[in-house]
Formats: sequence, C-alpha cells, structure tokens
Amino acid sequence: MPQIKKLLIANRGEIALRIHRACHEMGIKTVAVHSTADADAMHVRLADEAICIGPPAATDSYLNIPNIISAAEISGADAIHPGYGFLSENARFAEIVEMHDLLFVGPKPEHIRTMGDKIEAKRTAGALGLPLVPGSDGPIADLDEAKAIAAKAGYPVIIKAASGGGGRGMKVCTSEDQLETLMAQAGTEAKAAFGDATVYMEKYLGNPRHIEFQVFGDGNGNAIHLGERDCSLQRRHQKVLEEAPSPVITPAERERMGGIVAKAMADMGYRGAGTIEFLWEAGEFYFIEMNTRLQVEHPVTEMITGIDLVREQIRVAEGHPLSVTQDQVRFSGHAIECRINAEDPRTFMPSPGKVAQFHAPGGMHVRVDSGLYAGYKVPPYYDSMIAKLIVYGTSRERCIARLRRALEEFVIEGMKTTIPLHRDLIEDPEFQAGDYTIKWLEDWLAKQT
Ligand code: ADP
Repeated sequence: MPQIKKLLIANRGEIALRIHRACHEMGIKTVAVHSTADADAMHVRLADEAICIGPPAATDSYLNIPNIISAAEISGADAIHPGYGFLSENARFAEIVEMHDLLFVGPKPEHIRTMGDKIEAKRTAGALGLPLVPGSDGPIADLDEAKAIAAKAGYPVIIKAASGGGGRGMKVCTSEDQLETLMAQAGTEAKAAFGDATVYMEKYLGNPRHIEFQVFGDGNGNAIHLGERDCSLQRRHQKVLEEAPSPVITPAERERMGGIVAKAMADMGYRGAGTIEFLWEAGEFYFIEMNTRLQVEHPVTEMITGIDLVREQIRVAEGHPLSVTQDQVRFSGHAIECRINAEDPRTFMPSPGKVAQFHAPGGMHVRVDSGLYAGYKVPPYYDSMIAKLIVYGTSRERCIARLRRALEEFVIEGMKTTIPLHRDLIEDPEFQAGDYTIKWLEDWLAKQT
C-alpha cells in the first residue's frame, strides 16, 4: 500500500492550514504552493516547503495546473490535496495528478466529472434511488420546452446552470411571461461564469431547509454516512452558519436517509469524502447536488462524530479501508460553525486590510480554523472568509451558550468582520428554537436596522 510521505496542498487560507495540521499529525511532510500575494500566509510559514506558483490572480496561480504539477515534481511530493474551491472539483486536474503518478486525495475523476455536471448528477442520483426536486430531466433546449416543463412543475421555477456552483447563476421565475428573458439571462450568465451555457429547471420550493449528508467511500464498494448538517442559514444562496445535527431531523430519519445515501455511494464505488445536498420541505428530502470534496462546514461533523475527515481522506487515498464501520459511528452532542468574513456585517462590502489585533477564543470545545495573525494583510484577491469558529456542546442549548461566550472573546481588529452579525443572530428566538429555513436569514437581515 502506498504511504504518503510528502503531500502538496493545492490551496490557500484556512483549509490549507487544516490539511497541513492533519498531515503533520500523521507524520506527513507538507508542501505549500502560493501566489505572490500569499507569501506571508500562515500555511506557507508552517509548511515544510513552500513554492511560489504565480501572480495573485487565481487563474495564474491556484488554478495553474502546470505550475502546481511542476511544484509537486520539484519538491518530490507523492500526493496532492486540493482542499475546496479552486481545482478540487476539476476532473481533468485529478486525472493529470494521477497521470504523474501522484495520489489525488479525492474521488475518482469519473465521479468528479459526473457530479460536476448537475444534470448528470441528478440523473445519477435518481438512478441510485435518491428523491429529486421535480423539474427537467436534462438540459433545456428551447423556450417551448422550458414553458412545458414549467407548466408541469408549476410556478415558481428556478433556472440553474448545469456547470454552476457557489450559489451563482440561478434565476427564479414566477410566471410564464418572464420565462424568455430569464432563460436568456441565465444562459448568458452561465456561459460567462462557467464557460457553459447549459441550463436546467427545477420547481422552486417555497420554504425549504438545506440539509446535507456527509458520506465517505473506500472506492471498493464500501461506504458510510456521518449524519447531516443543516446549512439553511444562507445569504444569496451562500452559507453563513451551519450546524450538526439538524434541529429538525430525528435519529430515525437520520438513519433512514443516511442509509439511502450510504448505499448509493457504495453502489457507485465512490472514493473519499462527499456531500449529498438536499432541500427538505414538509418532511421530504429532495436531492439538489453532490459535492465531491471536503466542505467548508466539515468541522461540525468532526465535532459530533470525533472523526478527523482529512485524516480519513488521506487514509482512503493511500488505499486503506474506512477506519470505522457504520455501526461504530456515534453521534454525540451538537456543533455550530460561524463563517467569519472580512466584510461589513450589515452591507457585506468586502473589507480586506491589515490585521491590527487578533485574539482567537479558546477554552473547552472551541475550535478556530483561521490563517490570521496580528500583522497579516488579508489580500483582496480571494474569498472573503478569514476564519471559522466551531463550537461543541452536549446539547444545542449548551452549544449556543458556549458560542455566545466564544464570540464575545473573539477579537479581530483592523478590518470589518461578520462577528457582530453572528453575535446578533444567535440571540434571535427563532434561531434559538431552530425554527428557520433558507429564506429566514435574508428576512432577518432586512429587519435589522
Ligand atoms: P450551488 O452549487 O451554486 O451551491 P445548489 O444547487 O447547491 O447550487 O443550490 C444552492 C442554494 O440555492 C440552495 O441551498 C438553496 O438555498 C437554493 N436553491 C437551489 N435549488 C432550489 C430549488 N429548487 N428551490 C428553492 N431553492 C433552491
């Protein structure tokens, strides 16, 4: 069985640090790759070796496949972990990595490809027995077809890009007279953002929750689920706060749905970590997509299961069987993650800049994943997420009490952050009751003065 001795981290920020930490705990050396804008980043400082792969623009650095492969060759790395975002769901990249006799810490390229096309993903999920959102069975060719499908599903409908991601390129259409304009817009925007104008259509669910299952496969027909995460608190289809378990899913429902997704992954021969995303309304699950990578919000699952997901990814990439069987997975307590962005907490205008003061909260069951330190300059070129605060409690109530305490302690000065937003949000009685859907946060924000 190949043993990884040196792993190249093809990412930046907190996730690069997260991967570095798992590697060092496993006795694996790390190679950081970075753009010129990230020369002072924490993961670059901590890694055993660092190689500059290009200028600030991600297309020239973190997405620059030849430079990343060269860095792996030069440093003698034997594996590459892509993190999330950037090249993590690029099937071609996974193939190129494997062609260079490097281990790709991620799924098989064909599964990345299938799930990366959301139309293919829905077809595959349907064939594997997962419940789907009603809508088009494939790409929509013309306006007449769009009209027919929308009439059958019933308005409102949502037009989505087949190659979409990151909550972008979706259009909600409430009546037939808007359909022509919105279809054209969706196609043009999809082409511009993802290089593919293909769109499909779904019934737009009125007020669902976003509930996703963490899955893990060994690539040889064995797979498990690690329960669900509730990611309903979103702004512009982007997650803001996530929790595990979901306040609305019973243990029996978790076992039932978890069993279905784990079996689907086993049947597929899926390898590594994956997330199956559903909308949940009136007690029913509707598959929307699968992400073939580690998610930003994976730590809440780690907190309630005690399983290190990055370690598990690396072990599976080396060819080991899963380290636990489904029967050995225990869910205990409750965990919440707050995504902290360098943004104005009201207007959400980006606020990059130099960190004047940094003090991370600590104490029992408090985890901060962040590459920030005093004196560090947050570069303006990338995602605005600068930290994740993850807190555990034996119950949801105790988790929220600890989260309140941790948010009180958190100091980031020198830029605006969304910490004040989280402080206010967790005081809301509806949040405290777990009574929210994907629409809730935007309504709540509109009510704030
Ligand atoms: P992306 O890959 O861009 O994140 P998703 O398909 O995962 O796109 O959808 C992101 C979010 O958009 C969901 O969490 C949900 O808030 C909203 N959404 C997507 N599809 C629907 C739908 N059919 N009805 C209502 N909301 C939807």
